[in-house]
Amino acid sequence: MKTQNKALAILMSALLFLMSAVSCSSASAAKGDANGDGKISSADARLVLRVAAQLDKAIASFADCDMDENGRLTSVDARVVLRIAARIITAYDPNEELLLVHFIDVGQADCILVERGDYTMLIDGGNVADAPAVLSYLQDKGVVSLDYVVSTHAHEDHVGGLGRILAEIEIENGVFAPKTGEKTNAYDNFCSVVREQGFSPVTPLPGETLSFGGMQVRFLGPITEDEKRLNNTSIVMKLVFGATSFLFTGDAERDEELEIIDSGADLSATVLKVGHHGSESSTSYAFLWNIMPKYAVISVGENNSYGHPEDAVLSRLRDADVQVYRTDLQGTVVARSDGKTVRFSTDKTPQSGDNPAASTTQETSATTTAPTTAAQTYIGNKNSHVFHLPTCPNLPKPSNRVTFNSRDDAVNAGYRACGNCKP
Ligand SMILES: [Zn+2]
Ligand SMILES: [Zn+2]
Repeated sequence: MKTQNKALAILMSALLFLMSAVSCSSASAAKGDANGDGKISSADARLVLRVAAQLDKAIASFADCDMDENGRLTSVDARVVLRIAARIITAYDPNEELLLVHFIDVGQADCILVERGDYTMLIDGGNVADAPAVLSYLQDKGVVSLDYVVSTHAHEDHVGGLGRILAEIEIENGVFAPKTGEKTNAYDNFCSVVREQGFSPVTPLPGETLSFGGMQVRFLGPITEDEKRLNNTSIVMKLVFGATSFLFTGDAERDEELEIIDSGADLSATVLKVGHHGSESSTSYAFLWNIMPKYAVISVGENNSYGHPEDAVLSRLRDADVQVYRTDLQGTVVARSDGKTVRFSTDKTPQSGDNPAASTTQETSATTTAPTTAAQTYIGNKNSHVFHLPTCPNLPKPSNRVTFNSRDDAVNAGYRACGNCKP
Protein backbone atom coordinates (compact mmCIF):
# COMPACT_ATOMS: atom_id res chain seq x y z
CA MET A 1 0.00 0.00 0.00
CA LYS A 2 2.79 2.32 0.97
CA THR A 3 4.53 1.60 -2.33
CA GLN A 4 1.31 2.37 -4.20
CA ASN A 5 0.99 5.67 -2.33
CA LYS A 6 4.56 6.48 -3.18
CA ALA A 7 4.01 5.60 -6.85
CA LEU A 8 0.94 7.82 -6.84
CA ALA A 9 2.87 10.64 -5.21
CA ILE A 10 5.60 10.34 -7.82
CA LEU A 11 3.04 10.22 -10.59
CA MET A 12 1.41 13.39 -9.27
CA SER A 13 4.78 15.10 -8.94
CA ALA A 14 5.70 14.08 -12.46
CA LEU A 15 2.41 15.44 -13.78
CA LEU A 16 2.84 18.67 -11.83
CA PHE A 17 6.34 18.96 -13.20
CA LEU A 18 5.05 18.40 -16.72
CA MET A 19 2.24 20.89 -16.26
CA SER A 20 4.64 23.52 -15.04
CA ALA A 21 7.05 22.73 -17.87
CA VAL A 22 4.18 23.02 -20.33
CA SER A 23 2.94 26.34 -18.94
CA CYS A 24 6.41 27.81 -18.46
CA SER A 25 7.67 28.06 -22.00
CA SER A 26 5.67 29.00 -25.03
CA ALA A 27 7.30 26.23 -27.05
CA SER A 28 6.12 23.65 -24.54
CA ALA A 29 2.73 25.29 -24.36
CA ALA A 30 2.36 24.84 -28.10
CA LYS A 31 3.08 21.14 -27.63
CA GLY A 32 0.59 20.79 -24.79
CA ASP A 33 -2.18 22.47 -26.69
CA ALA A 34 -1.87 20.16 -29.67
CA ASN A 35 -3.86 22.42 -31.96
CA GLY A 36 -2.26 25.59 -30.66
CA ASP A 37 -5.68 27.20 -30.32
CA GLY A 38 -5.80 27.56 -26.55
CA LYS A 39 -8.67 25.12 -26.24
CA ILE A 40 -8.66 21.47 -25.17
CA SER A 41 -9.59 19.32 -28.16
CA SER A 42 -9.55 15.64 -29.07
CA ALA A 43 -5.99 16.12 -30.35
CA ASP A 44 -5.03 17.40 -26.90
CA ALA A 45 -6.79 14.43 -25.34
CA ARG A 46 -4.74 12.07 -27.50
CA LEU A 47 -1.62 13.88 -26.39
CA VAL A 48 -2.57 13.44 -22.73
CA LEU A 49 -3.24 9.74 -23.31
CA ARG A 50 0.13 9.34 -24.99
CA VAL A 51 1.94 11.19 -22.23
CA ALA A 52 0.10 9.04 -19.67
CA ALA A 53 1.12 5.85 -21.50
CA GLN A 54 4.74 6.98 -21.57
CA LEU A 55 4.54 7.94 -17.89
CA ASP A 56 3.23 4.47 -17.13
CA LYS A 57 6.11 2.87 -19.03
CA ALA A 58 8.66 5.15 -17.42
CA ILE A 59 7.39 4.40 -13.92
CA ALA A 60 7.43 0.65 -14.63
CA SER A 61 11.07 0.96 -15.60
CA PHE A 62 11.79 2.73 -12.31
CA ALA A 63 10.51 -0.09 -10.11
CA ASP A 64 13.07 0.91 -7.50
CA CYS A 65 11.64 4.40 -7.23
CA ASP A 66 10.32 3.87 -3.71
CA MET A 67 13.59 4.99 -2.23
CA ASP A 68 12.64 5.14 1.41
CA GLU A 69 9.93 3.88 3.68
CA ASN A 70 8.83 7.08 5.35
CA GLY A 71 6.10 7.77 2.82
CA ARG A 72 7.47 11.22 2.03
CA LEU A 73 9.15 12.39 -1.09
CA THR A 74 12.92 12.63 -0.84
CA SER A 75 15.50 14.23 -3.03
CA VAL A 76 16.14 10.77 -4.50
CA ASP A 77 12.48 10.54 -5.48
CA ALA A 78 12.67 14.03 -6.92
CA ARG A 79 15.60 12.99 -9.09
CA VAL A 80 13.64 9.95 -10.26
CA VAL A 81 10.69 12.19 -11.14
CA LEU A 82 12.96 14.53 -13.06
CA ARG A 83 14.44 11.61 -14.99
CA ILE A 84 10.97 10.29 -15.82
CA ALA A 85 9.83 13.73 -16.91
CA ALA A 86 12.94 14.17 -19.06
CA ARG A 87 12.23 10.86 -20.77
CA ILE A 88 8.65 11.83 -21.53
CA ILE A 89 9.62 15.22 -22.87
CA THR A 90 12.36 13.84 -25.13
CA ALA A 91 10.07 11.04 -26.32
CA TYR A 92 7.42 13.53 -27.37
CA ASP A 93 7.57 14.53 -31.01
CA PRO A 94 4.96 17.20 -31.86
CA ASN A 95 5.07 16.08 -35.52
CA GLU A 96 3.61 12.73 -34.50
CA GLU A 97 0.26 14.39 -34.00
CA LEU A 98 0.18 15.66 -37.57
CA LEU A 99 -0.93 13.81 -40.63
CA LEU A 100 1.69 14.14 -43.36
CA VAL A 101 0.82 13.31 -46.94
CA HIS A 102 3.93 13.20 -49.12
CA PHE A 103 3.32 13.47 -52.86
CA ILE A 104 6.74 12.14 -53.77
CA ASP A 105 8.18 13.52 -57.01
CA VAL A 106 8.49 10.46 -59.23
CA GLY A 107 8.16 12.27 -62.55
CA GLN A 108 5.30 11.11 -64.78
CA ALA A 109 3.95 8.67 -62.18
CA ASP A 110 2.28 8.52 -58.75
CA CYS A 111 3.72 7.72 -55.34
CA ILE A 112 2.11 8.99 -52.15
CA LEU A 113 3.16 8.31 -48.58
CA VAL A 114 0.56 8.82 -45.86
CA GLU A 115 2.21 9.14 -42.46
CA ARG A 116 0.94 9.88 -38.98
CA GLY A 117 3.37 9.04 -36.22
CA ASP A 118 4.21 5.39 -36.69
CA TYR A 119 1.22 4.76 -38.94
CA THR A 120 1.92 4.62 -42.66
CA MET A 121 0.27 3.86 -45.97
CA LEU A 122 1.89 3.90 -49.40
CA ILE A 123 -0.35 4.64 -52.37
CA ASP A 124 1.41 3.53 -55.58
CA GLY A 125 5.17 3.29 -56.04
CA GLY A 126 6.05 5.19 -59.22
CA ASN A 127 7.73 3.53 -62.19
CA VAL A 128 10.13 0.58 -61.78
CA ALA A 129 13.08 2.97 -62.11
CA ASP A 130 11.75 5.18 -59.27
CA ALA A 131 12.06 2.45 -56.62
CA PRO A 132 15.56 3.40 -55.38
CA ALA A 133 14.57 7.06 -54.97
CA VAL A 134 11.35 6.12 -53.17
CA LEU A 135 13.23 3.70 -50.92
CA SER A 136 15.71 6.38 -49.95
CA TYR A 137 12.87 8.84 -49.33
CA LEU A 138 11.20 6.30 -47.01
CA GLN A 139 14.50 5.61 -45.30
CA ASP A 140 15.04 9.32 -44.84
CA LYS A 141 11.67 9.62 -43.12
CA GLY A 142 12.47 6.66 -40.87
CA VAL A 143 9.80 4.48 -42.47
CA VAL A 144 10.89 0.87 -42.05
CA SER A 145 7.50 -0.80 -42.56
CA LEU A 146 4.14 0.09 -44.07
CA ASP A 147 0.82 -0.56 -42.40
CA TYR A 148 -1.02 -0.57 -45.71
CA VAL A 149 -0.09 -0.54 -49.37
CA VAL A 150 -2.48 0.50 -52.13
CA SER A 151 -1.84 -0.19 -55.80
CA THR A 152 -4.46 2.05 -57.42
CA HIS A 153 -4.32 0.16 -60.74
CA ALA A 154 -2.02 -2.04 -62.80
CA HIS A 155 -0.32 0.60 -64.96
CA GLU A 156 3.45 0.64 -64.67
CA ASP A 157 3.64 4.28 -63.57
CA HIS A 158 1.68 3.33 -60.43
CA VAL A 159 2.50 -0.29 -59.61
CA GLY A 160 5.95 -0.39 -61.23
CA GLY A 161 8.08 0.62 -58.26
CA LEU A 162 6.06 -1.32 -55.69
CA GLY A 163 7.70 -4.69 -56.43
CA ARG A 164 11.16 -3.49 -55.59
CA ILE A 165 10.01 -1.27 -52.73
CA LEU A 166 8.15 -4.14 -51.06
CA ALA A 167 11.12 -6.44 -51.53
CA GLU A 168 12.84 -4.17 -48.97
CA ILE A 169 10.03 -2.78 -46.83
CA GLU A 170 7.84 -4.94 -44.66
CA ILE A 171 4.04 -4.84 -44.96
CA GLU A 172 2.33 -4.78 -41.57
CA ASN A 173 -1.41 -5.03 -42.13
CA GLY A 174 -2.69 -5.27 -45.67
CA VAL A 175 -2.49 -4.63 -49.39
CA PHE A 176 -5.23 -3.27 -51.63
CA ALA A 177 -5.42 -3.54 -55.41
CA PRO A 178 -8.33 -3.63 -57.86
CA LYS A 179 -9.17 -6.61 -60.06
CA THR A 180 -7.37 -6.19 -63.33
CA GLY A 181 -7.96 -7.57 -66.78
CA GLU A 182 -4.46 -6.80 -67.93
CA LYS A 183 -1.66 -8.45 -66.05
CA THR A 184 1.38 -6.30 -66.74
CA ASN A 185 4.85 -7.54 -65.78
CA ALA A 186 5.01 -4.83 -63.14
CA TYR A 187 1.72 -6.01 -61.69
CA ASP A 188 2.81 -9.67 -61.65
CA ASN A 189 6.04 -8.75 -59.94
CA PHE A 190 4.13 -6.71 -57.35
CA CYS A 191 1.77 -9.66 -56.65
CA SER A 192 4.60 -12.11 -56.19
CA VAL A 193 6.50 -9.84 -53.80
CA VAL A 194 3.29 -9.28 -51.83
CA ARG A 195 2.73 -13.05 -51.65
CA GLU A 196 6.30 -13.58 -50.48
CA GLN A 197 5.42 -11.34 -47.55
CA GLY A 198 2.42 -13.56 -46.77
CA PHE A 199 -0.26 -11.19 -48.06
CA SER A 200 -2.52 -11.20 -51.07
CA PRO A 201 -4.01 -8.02 -52.54
CA VAL A 202 -7.59 -7.37 -51.45
CA THR A 203 -10.04 -5.50 -53.67
CA PRO A 204 -11.96 -3.09 -51.44
CA LEU A 205 -15.70 -2.68 -51.97
CA PRO A 206 -17.12 0.81 -52.43
CA GLY A 207 -18.38 2.02 -49.07
CA GLU A 208 -15.87 -0.04 -47.09
CA THR A 209 -13.89 1.82 -44.47
CA LEU A 210 -10.61 1.28 -42.71
CA SER A 211 -9.44 3.04 -39.56
CA PHE A 212 -5.86 3.36 -38.43
CA GLY A 213 -3.74 5.91 -36.59
CA GLY A 214 -6.73 8.12 -35.82
CA MET A 215 -7.51 8.39 -39.54
CA GLN A 216 -10.29 6.84 -41.58
CA VAL A 217 -10.04 5.61 -45.16
CA ARG A 218 -13.29 5.41 -47.13
CA PHE A 219 -13.12 3.41 -50.35
CA LEU A 220 -15.31 5.01 -53.01
CA GLY A 221 -14.38 3.28 -56.24
CA PRO A 222 -14.18 1.49 -58.56
CA ILE A 223 -17.93 0.86 -58.56
CA THR A 224 -18.15 -1.46 -61.57
CA GLU A 225 -15.14 -3.39 -62.63
CA ASP A 226 -14.36 -2.48 -66.20
CA GLU A 227 -11.21 -4.55 -66.16
CA LYS A 228 -10.31 -3.63 -69.73
CA ARG A 229 -9.84 0.06 -69.11
CA LEU A 230 -7.25 0.00 -66.43
CA ASN A 231 -7.50 3.68 -65.51
CA ASN A 232 -11.15 3.16 -64.60
CA THR A 233 -10.26 0.29 -62.29
CA SER A 234 -8.41 2.83 -60.12
CA ILE A 235 -9.03 2.59 -56.41
CA VAL A 236 -10.51 5.94 -55.39
CA MET A 237 -10.46 6.66 -51.68
CA LYS A 238 -10.94 9.43 -49.21
CA LEU A 239 -8.69 9.78 -46.20
CA VAL A 240 -10.35 11.65 -43.35
CA PHE A 241 -8.41 13.17 -40.47
CA GLY A 242 -10.40 15.43 -38.18
CA ALA A 243 -12.06 18.10 -40.27
CA THR A 244 -9.60 17.65 -43.13
CA SER A 245 -9.69 15.09 -45.91
CA PHE A 246 -7.79 13.94 -48.98
CA LEU A 247 -9.28 12.38 -52.08
CA PHE A 248 -6.93 9.98 -53.89
CA THR A 249 -8.03 9.09 -57.39
CA GLY A 250 -5.25 7.16 -59.14
CA ASP A 251 -5.89 7.56 -62.86
CA ALA A 252 -9.70 7.41 -62.63
CA GLU A 253 -11.29 8.96 -65.70
CA ARG A 254 -14.65 10.59 -66.35
CA ASP A 255 -16.67 7.31 -66.48
CA GLU A 256 -15.46 6.20 -63.07
CA GLU A 257 -15.88 9.72 -61.68
CA LEU A 258 -19.52 9.78 -62.81
CA GLU A 259 -20.20 6.36 -61.31
CA ILE A 260 -18.76 7.50 -58.00
CA ILE A 261 -20.94 10.63 -58.08
CA ASP A 262 -23.98 8.43 -58.80
CA SER A 263 -23.15 6.25 -55.80
CA GLY A 264 -24.11 9.22 -53.62
CA ALA A 265 -20.87 9.07 -51.63
CA ASP A 266 -19.74 12.22 -49.88
CA LEU A 267 -16.84 13.35 -52.08
CA SER A 268 -16.10 16.65 -50.37
CA ALA A 269 -12.40 16.91 -49.60
CA THR A 270 -9.87 19.52 -48.60
CA VAL A 271 -7.21 18.19 -50.95
CA LEU A 272 -7.69 16.46 -54.31
CA LYS A 273 -4.99 14.31 -55.86
CA VAL A 274 -5.85 15.21 -59.44
CA GLY A 275 -6.69 12.13 -61.53
CA HIS A 276 -4.44 10.81 -64.28
CA HIS A 277 -1.65 13.38 -63.95
CA GLY A 278 -3.90 16.24 -65.06
CA SER A 279 -5.17 14.55 -68.22
CA GLU A 280 -8.23 16.14 -69.82
CA SER A 281 -10.02 12.77 -69.50
CA SER A 282 -10.20 13.21 -65.71
CA THR A 283 -11.29 15.89 -63.25
CA SER A 284 -14.64 16.51 -64.91
CA TYR A 285 -16.55 19.59 -63.78
CA ALA A 286 -19.19 17.44 -62.11
CA PHE A 287 -16.58 15.54 -60.11
CA LEU A 288 -14.80 18.73 -59.12
CA TRP A 289 -18.01 20.43 -57.97
CA ASN A 290 -18.81 17.43 -55.78
CA ILE A 291 -15.37 17.53 -54.19
CA MET A 292 -14.99 21.30 -53.88
CA PRO A 293 -11.35 20.98 -52.83
CA LYS A 294 -9.37 23.87 -51.47
CA TYR A 295 -6.13 22.42 -52.78
CA ALA A 296 -5.14 20.05 -55.55
CA VAL A 297 -1.91 18.20 -56.20
CA ILE A 298 -0.91 17.06 -59.68
CA SER A 299 1.72 14.32 -59.81
CA VAL A 300 3.25 14.82 -63.24
CA GLY A 301 6.61 14.70 -65.04
CA GLU A 302 8.43 17.79 -66.22
CA ASN A 303 8.04 18.26 -70.01
CA ASN A 304 6.21 14.94 -70.34
CA SER A 305 5.23 13.77 -73.81
CA TYR A 306 1.50 13.60 -72.93
CA GLY A 307 1.16 17.35 -72.43
CA HIS A 308 -0.02 16.77 -68.85
CA PRO A 309 -1.37 18.64 -67.04
CA GLU A 310 -3.72 19.83 -69.77
CA ASP A 311 -4.84 23.46 -69.90
CA ALA A 312 -8.50 22.43 -69.72
CA VAL A 313 -7.91 20.78 -66.33
CA LEU A 314 -5.91 23.71 -65.00
CA SER A 315 -8.63 26.07 -66.11
CA ARG A 316 -11.35 23.95 -64.40
CA LEU A 317 -9.30 24.03 -61.20
CA ARG A 318 -8.88 27.79 -61.56
CA ASP A 319 -12.63 28.21 -62.07
CA ALA A 320 -13.25 26.23 -58.89
CA ASP A 321 -10.78 28.50 -57.07
CA VAL A 322 -8.48 25.62 -56.20
CA GLN A 323 -4.88 26.22 -55.19
CA VAL A 324 -2.75 23.86 -57.26
CA TYR A 325 0.56 22.17 -56.45
CA ARG A 326 2.54 20.32 -59.13
CA THR A 327 5.40 17.90 -58.73
CA ASP A 328 6.84 18.90 -62.14
CA LEU A 329 7.31 22.49 -60.97
CA GLN A 330 7.69 22.07 -57.23
CA GLY A 331 9.22 18.65 -56.75
CA THR A 332 7.94 16.63 -53.80
CA VAL A 333 4.89 18.26 -52.23
CA VAL A 334 4.11 17.59 -48.56
CA ALA A 335 0.73 18.39 -47.05
CA ARG A 336 0.52 18.64 -43.25
CA SER A 337 -2.81 18.43 -41.48
CA ASP A 338 -3.43 19.08 -37.79
CA GLY A 339 -7.01 17.92 -38.23
CA LYS A 340 -8.24 21.45 -38.81
CA THR A 341 -6.13 23.00 -41.52
CA VAL A 342 -3.77 21.75 -44.19
CA ARG A 343 -0.47 23.43 -44.94
CA PHE A 344 1.93 22.69 -47.74
CA SER A 345 5.64 22.65 -48.23
CA THR A 346 7.43 21.95 -51.48
CA ASP A 347 10.93 21.01 -52.55
CA LYS A 348 11.34 23.92 -54.89
CA THR A 349 9.69 27.17 -55.85
CA PRO A 350 8.53 27.48 -59.44
CA GLN A 351 9.87 30.29 -61.61
CA SER A 352 7.42 33.15 -62.00
CA GLY A 353 7.17 32.31 -65.71
CA ASP A 354 5.87 28.85 -64.90
CA ASN A 355 2.25 27.95 -65.23
CA PRO A 356 0.29 30.27 -62.96
CA ALA A 357 -2.14 27.57 -61.94
CA ALA A 358 0.56 26.16 -59.75
CA SER A 359 2.75 27.97 -57.36
CA THR A 360 3.79 28.09 -53.75
CA THR A 361 1.84 30.17 -51.30
CA GLN A 362 2.28 32.09 -48.10
CA GLU A 363 1.07 28.97 -46.34
CA THR A 364 4.08 26.96 -47.35
CA SER A 365 6.35 26.12 -44.49
CA ALA A 366 9.90 27.18 -43.80
CA THR A 367 11.26 24.30 -45.85
CA THR A 368 10.08 26.09 -48.98
CA THR A 369 12.54 28.48 -50.50
CA ALA A 370 11.23 32.01 -50.34
CA PRO A 371 10.02 33.35 -53.68
CA THR A 372 12.58 35.50 -55.38
CA THR A 373 12.05 39.17 -54.68
CA ALA A 374 14.53 40.52 -57.20
CA ALA A 375 12.85 43.06 -59.47
CA GLN A 376 9.57 42.71 -57.60
CA THR A 377 6.57 43.22 -59.81
CA TYR A 378 2.89 42.81 -59.06
CA ILE A 379 0.25 41.31 -61.29
CA GLY A 380 -3.25 42.72 -61.31
CA ASN A 381 -6.48 41.28 -62.64
CA LYS A 382 -8.10 43.77 -65.02
CA ASN A 383 -11.54 42.41 -64.15
CA SER A 384 -11.47 41.94 -60.40
CA HIS A 385 -8.97 44.76 -59.67
CA VAL A 386 -7.08 42.48 -57.28
CA PHE A 387 -3.29 42.42 -57.43
CA HIS A 388 -0.98 39.52 -56.61
CA LEU A 389 2.62 38.50 -56.19
CA PRO A 390 3.91 36.82 -59.37
CA THR A 391 4.13 33.57 -57.37
CA CYS A 392 0.48 33.60 -56.28
CA PRO A 393 -1.44 30.48 -57.33
CA ASN A 394 -4.51 32.58 -58.09
CA LEU A 395 -3.03 34.68 -60.88
CA PRO A 396 -5.51 35.73 -63.56
CA LYS A 397 -5.39 34.35 -67.09
CA PRO A 398 -2.57 35.99 -69.08
CA SER A 399 -5.10 37.96 -71.16
CA ASN A 400 -6.54 39.58 -68.01
CA ARG A 401 -3.23 40.62 -66.51
CA VAL A 402 -1.77 44.03 -65.88
CA THR A 403 1.72 44.41 -64.43
CA PHE A 404 2.70 46.98 -61.81
CA ASN A 405 6.28 47.84 -60.97
CA SER A 406 5.53 48.61 -57.34
CA ARG A 407 2.90 47.97 -54.72
CA ASP A 408 2.11 51.70 -54.61
CA ASP A 409 1.42 51.74 -58.35
CA ALA A 410 -1.13 48.97 -57.88
CA VAL A 411 -2.82 50.66 -54.92
CA ASN A 412 -2.85 54.05 -56.68
CA ALA A 413 -4.52 52.41 -59.66
CA GLY A 414 -7.35 51.34 -57.36
CA TYR A 415 -6.31 47.70 -57.04
CA ARG A 416 -6.62 45.81 -53.74
CA ALA A 417 -4.26 43.16 -52.40
CA CYS A 418 -5.01 39.45 -52.86
CA GLY A 419 -5.95 37.84 -49.54
CA ASN A 420 -4.04 34.72 -50.47
CA CYS A 421 -0.54 35.91 -51.36
CA LYS A 422 -0.88 39.14 -49.33
CA PRO A 423 1.40 41.26 -51.57
ZN1 LIG B 1 -3.05 4.58 -65.54
ZN1 LIG C 1 -0.77 7.10 -64.34
